[in-house]
Amino acid sequence: MRQPSKAADQEGPAILWFRRDLRLSDQDAVQAAVGGKTPVIPVFILDDAKAGDWKAGGAARWWLHHSLTSLAGSLQKAGSGLVLRRGESAENILALVREVGAGSVHTGVMPEPWERAADAALANALAGMGCTLHCHRTALLHDPEAVTTQAGKPFSVFTPFAHAFSRVTHPAPPGPMPTRIPSPALPRSDKLVDWALLPSIRWDAEIAAHWTPGEAGAAERLQHFIAEAAAQYDFGRNAVAEAGSSSLSPHLHWGEISARQVWAALDEAPAGAGVAAFRRELIWREFTAHVLWHHPSVPDEALRPEFRTFPWRRDARALRAWQRGMTGVPIVDAGMRQLWSIGWMHNRVRMITASFLVKHLLLPWREGEAWFWDTLVDADLPNNSVNWQWVAGCGADPSPFFRIFNPVLQGKKFDPEGAYVRRWVPELAGLDTRFIHEPWAAPDVALRTAGITIGKTYPAPLVDLAEGRARALAALRQTVGRAA
Ligand SMILES: Cc1cc2nc3c(=O)[nH]c(=O)nc-3n(C[C@H](O)[C@H](O)[C@H](O)COP(=O)(O)OP(=O)(O)OC[C@H]3O[C@@H](n4cnc5c(N)ncnc54)[C@H](O)[C@@H]3O)c2cc1C
Repeated sequence: MRQPSKAADQEGPAILWFRRDLRLSDQDAVQAAVGGKTPVIPVFILDDAKAGDWKAGGAARWWLHHSLTSLAGSLQKAGSGLVLRRGESAENILALVREVGAGSVHTGVMPEPWERAADAALANALAGMGCTLHCHRTALLHDPEAVTTQAGKPFSVFTPFAHAFSRVTHPAPPGPMPTRIPSPALPRSDKLVDWALLPSIRWDAEIAAHWTPGEAGAAERLQHFIAEAAAQYDFGRNAVAEAGSSSLSPHLHWGEISARQVWAALDEAPAGAGVAAFRRELIWREFTAHVLWHHPSVPDEALRPEFRTFPWRRDARALRAWQRGMTGVPIVDAGMRQLWSIGWMHNRVRMITASFLVKHLLLPWREGEAWFWDTLVDADLPNNSVNWQWVAGCGADPSPFFRIFNPVLQGKKFDPEGAYVRRWVPELAGLDTRFIHEPWAAPDVALRTAGITIGKTYPAPLVDLAEGRARALAALRQTVGRAA
């Protein structure tokens, strides 16, 4: 990762280029631009073409609209504003540098492969104009290439990565929020509303009721988590019906709060297993960025070559039933409907729904990855792709191939009263708790009392769970056996 250049900047304003680091506090690019004592021009560029298939999906675009609104408001309070431009980002930066005679550009390093390639070319082009590109670490606790094995190689397994990471990680205290950002009259800006990031058919009511995008919303959520849930996180995070996890993922993805701020805030929580378990999840986030950094193809291709010819099924009807939460397996349907409704799904249920798709239904992990990408407000390239490959067993540090979650047992264990299923699959709400995770096994009288007709008011399971499991094991054994 490129470090802030030591080269002296030319005269002229500094361009402060926001990417997925949409905050003012503890933001090294902001600090450096403001500390340069020249006027600062804050800019955000929407560059869909560069990201190709991985341009922000529908739910993420909703978030981005509101996050940019919030950032623009904070910049205005600090005496500045936000310039919005759309199109190829390097071209836009070069045009802006020419327009305002900028001497430096400050931005954050992003782990996405297309950003890295474009940054290298942009640095050269800017140097030719006498302008310096400064790339700061704004998204992660560590540079993805700073943690290595003793042989200096990247890690492919999480646990040794976490050990090495903990040895080198002592994050500095978070930096301040600038009170004033000296800005000249800002250049022309697009209007956010013209970007049409909000849906034209308004499916976002529940998402809007659930989330507060922006730096203030992120800080509030963090404080709430530290006060209410951090100490019990080690077991609370698995109770799928409770708010036992932080729900910080979209805020972290968009950089409305820094990993360093979250790490430091944990010092305020009662020390213990909860805090240690939570720090481990933050390290998972660093690990997925590390994997993407060293394996840029991870979003598109199985890391284990033997899985590139895996006999995935094609079944559009089954895929659609999974996407819509109509598989007939309650915990899976509850998760998929939670996702559709609020743009987020509990981590335990992400694992269950993903496992059901790739194992019981034997549908390609890339179909699941793409659906999550479009529907999650926290859709994050490294976290999404590495976790999908983990569940499918084809990734850097895969879950063992014979590990096939039984959705009924998972439901009984992590949603013992069925509260999560009742919340998201209301047509099952009246069913006796004994059958809530397997309504097909309920006696007629229990179904009648709850007003349920399997196959009519709620679907019959798409696949017999034992048969689906056996089919997946056979395909996996063949693939893994061939490679052994
Ligand atoms: C198939 C699948 C797809 C996923 N896709 C995404 C995604 O697109 N974006 C995303 O942010 N997370 C993804 N995750 C990881 C995880 O499910 C979410 O980060 C978590 O549920 C977010 O809720 P939270 O903020 O309450 O998490 P908490 O439990 O409070 O964890 C705190 C933070 O740690 C990080 N984290 C937690 N679990 C993981 C993990 N397994 N891998 C990497 N980082 C983690 C997240 O930034 C999270 O906000 C995925 C997991 C699976 C199994």
